[in-house]
Amino acid sequence: MKSHARVVVIGGGVVGCSVLYHLTKFGWTEVVLVERSELTSGSTWHAAGGMHTINGDPNVAKLQKYTVELYKEIQDYSGQDIGLHMTSGMMLASTKDRFDWMKSILAKGRYMGLDAHLLTPKEAHDLMPLLDPDQFVGAVFDPVEGHLDPYGTTHAYAKSAKRNGAEIYLHTKVEDLVQREDGSWRIITDKGEIVAEHVVNCGGLWAREIGRMVGLELPVLAMEHMYLITEDMPEVIEFNRTHGKELMHCVDFDGEIYLRQERNGMLMGTYEKACRPWSPLTTPWDFGHELLEEDIARITPELEVGFRHFPAFNRAGIRKIINGPFTFSPDGNPLVGPVRGMTNFWSACAVMAGFSQGGGVGLALANWMIDGDPGFDVFAMDVARYGDYATLAYTNAKVRENYSRRFSIRYPNEELPAGRPLQTTPIYDRLKAAGAVFGASYGLEQPLWFAPDGVEDRFSWRRSTDFETVGAEARAVREGVGLMETSGFAKYAVRGRGAAAWLDRLLACRLPEPGRMTLAPMLKDDGKLIGDFTLAKLGEGDFLLIGSGIAEDYHMRWFETHLPRDGSVTLEALNLSLVGLAIAGPKAREVLAKLTHRDVSTEAFPFMAVRRMDLGMAPAIVGRVSYTGDLGYEIWMKPQYQRYLYDLILEAGAEFGIRLFGLRALNALRLEKSYGSWSREYRPLYGPVEAGLERFVAVGKAADFIGREAARAERETGGALRLRTFVVAAKDADVIGDEPIYLDGAVRGWVTSGGYAHAAGLSVAVGYVPKEIADVETGWSIELLGEMLPARLQAEPLFDPSGARMRG
Ligand SMILES: Cc1cc2nc3c(=O)[nH]c(=O)nc-3n(C[C@H](O)[C@H](O)[C@H](O)COP(=O)(O)OP(=O)(O)OC[C@H]3O[C@@H](n4cnc5c(N)ncnc54)[C@H](O)[C@@H]3O)c2cc1C
Repeated sequence: MKSHARVVVIGGGVVGCSVLYHLTKFGWTEVVLVERSELTSGSTWHAAGGMHTINGDPNVAKLQKYTVELYKEIQDYSGQDIGLHMTSGMMLASTKDRFDWMKSILAKGRYMGLDAHLLTPKEAHDLMPLLDPDQFVGAVFDPVEGHLDPYGTTHAYAKSAKRNGAEIYLHTKVEDLVQREDGSWRIITDKGEIVAEHVVNCGGLWAREIGRMVGLELPVLAMEHMYLITEDMPEVIEFNRTHGKELMHCVDFDGEIYLRQERNGMLMGTYEKACRPWSPLTTPWDFGHELLEEDIARITPELEVGFRHFPAFNRAGIRKIINGPFTFSPDGNPLVGPVRGMTNFWSACAVMAGFSQGGGVGLALANWMIDGDPGFDVFAMDVARYGDYATLAYTNAKVRENYSRRFSIRYPNEELPAGRPLQTTPIYDRLKAAGAVFGASYGLEQPLWFAPDGVEDRFSWRRSTDFETVGAEARAVREGVGLMETSGFAKYAVRGRGAAAWLDRLLACRLPEPGRMTLAPMLKDDGKLIGDFTLAKLGEGDFLLIGSGIAEDYHMRWFETHLPRDGSVTLEALNLSLVGLAIAGPKAREVLAKLTHRDVSTEAFPFMAVRRMDLGMAPAIVGRVSYTGDLGYEIWMKPQYQRYLYDLILEAGAEFGIRLFGLRALNALRLEKSYGSWSREYRPLYGPVEAGLERFVAVGKAADFIGREAARAERETGGALRLRTFVVAAKDADVIGDEPIYLDGAVRGWVTSGGYAHAAGLSVAVGYVPKEIADVETGWSIELLGEMLPARLQAEPLFDPSGARMRG
């Protein structure tokens, strides 16, 4: 065994071997993998080996597409047979609602060039005669699906990596990890010690335990999972004989089952409602090539539906039932990337679909380690998408919910209940009493809308029970004044003698003068957006940075990586030690004026000014800015003052008809101003020219900020895309995001967000299209729930295009 290496990958499952392969493929040497037993000794060996491309999240779908396309390469390169069967597949719907959902998934796939299409029940039956067409309303056919041999595939990655120079140490268990003074790692195994620059946690079923070696509690939990294999079935043999090919994969969403051919019989698996975590507190180290006890009773309800939908199963004998554990994160996506606060400690775990995603995970991680960037947008699987709220018990609640809902529809307006309420602000009970319907974001309960007595959220693809009320909230802002809670934003205090210089290097904007704010895009080296903030300069060496709540850990990781080590800058994520309220609308100033003796006229307190001021008896920071695009103020306070200020503002606003509004009304308001939001319009995929943020990027400022050269280049070339707003001829449903945008009948772009702009009375979509066609006025349409809706390019914001109201 080597005593020194550049990288030690811990774990020889499909994920670890993929990471090892990609590191060597991109040229890294001195790369080793350490496996406690044989390769595949975790969840990999008993996997059903199914893989597919389609996924509800287009970024995850891209990763899956890459994985599936990689298989031929590793088979050829390693000479190891991986038992690849590209059978194609179909997703089946038994209800109209489910079929609507499938149409939306299909539409999302169109922009990626996925060659999937809809099937009638009869067409589905012709392709897959085991199904009863009367049980279904339709299906989606996916040509890129199949299954493979998990053992052969893992060994193909491993052999390819070895061919490139990697070494693999079997029967070598990592027992501890210790970071040395110089940042390198001591990997202490039962066979001796290796010192390495980087450590990668690909521990699968033991990833949580490996995390604990370095003081981390990773949000990952294993669940038991069962599938059955039948005896030979005459229907299968007959199909193979007459068609000369295998039966295809099926996912039957309403039966909550998946199936595929296995030899001359079939394999059927299920994500049962009565699911069970495996080893919820610690994974035993002596667990090896074993299966868990089968528990057919637990999956009987799903099997009953499955057998009804596929009647041939009723006549088949069951040869074997497999029950094995595999791991999930709270949202079911992997946990990939550098772990915040640690040098060169990388995560590649919680990969629940190793054969659909393992290749993409390996690619992203290898890119990240070698180039400092994953190379594509991986936020959906970034380990930094969780904060410290994702504790062991939270993870347990969310993983069970996710597992049991794996094949359930999640409606665009549906908030999932597990693990809630967890974090609340001081006014939570007050908002609840006022009818607030909450959504949880980054663990925090946030009001979405305020429901009248007796009205509840009804989950739907179409406009629902909240439509009228959200409209009234949005109009109340435009016509008078509204109050909302803003505590869910991330807030960072940046202080110290070096604060200004550091921010000037980190952010692409010009720094504001004291008492002023500015919009502050943050770029990566390649000039793509890695953040968009509001930066307030409260005083010399005293800044408040406000950004997206879901990206707090993600941004802290970036900030901390770039923080000077000389103590000249202090950085603090304020989280809920600073909470917020915002008032907006033409009467907002009159409300504010009642709370302070200070002059709040436009002359004294203009647009983008920020002041520390007392409101009533409470100290606060007030910024004259509003994401509604209206006259408005964001008010930040310590939590102990929030209830007081909430009551005070409502009392002062009563004479102006102040109304509470939530995040759904805010979305409607920002859309009619064409304001983008982080993780939708602004992502590491887009440059500032493309995203329309060019005017906030000061390429000519004195400080050499990160991404400056690339930003200059983008300015010269113009980038490839443009963000545009469209008014959609929608009927009873509005776009939400990821729908394809067509010009003259051809897919040319994708929606990033949308909704009904209530005050304007129009349905709106925002999305990216190639710059060459970005100003074409006619010929646009957007596909929604299987229908082509004509769309009109909206060149300027629907509301207050000159900004007079906001600045006035
Ligand atoms: C019944 C069942 C069916 C499935 N079907 C499918 C399917 O059809 N398609 C699909 O894509 N996925 C399927 N999966 C999921 C799939 O198995 C996982 O996504 C995949 O195995 C994850 O691989 P991994 O490398 O992350 O983890 P693992 O396979 O668990 O590998 C982790 C490895 O790390 C090693 N290790 C851990 N700790 C240490 C240490 N301290 N020192 C050294 N080595 C260590 C372990 O021995 C192990 O070999 C299924 C899973 C089950 C249980």
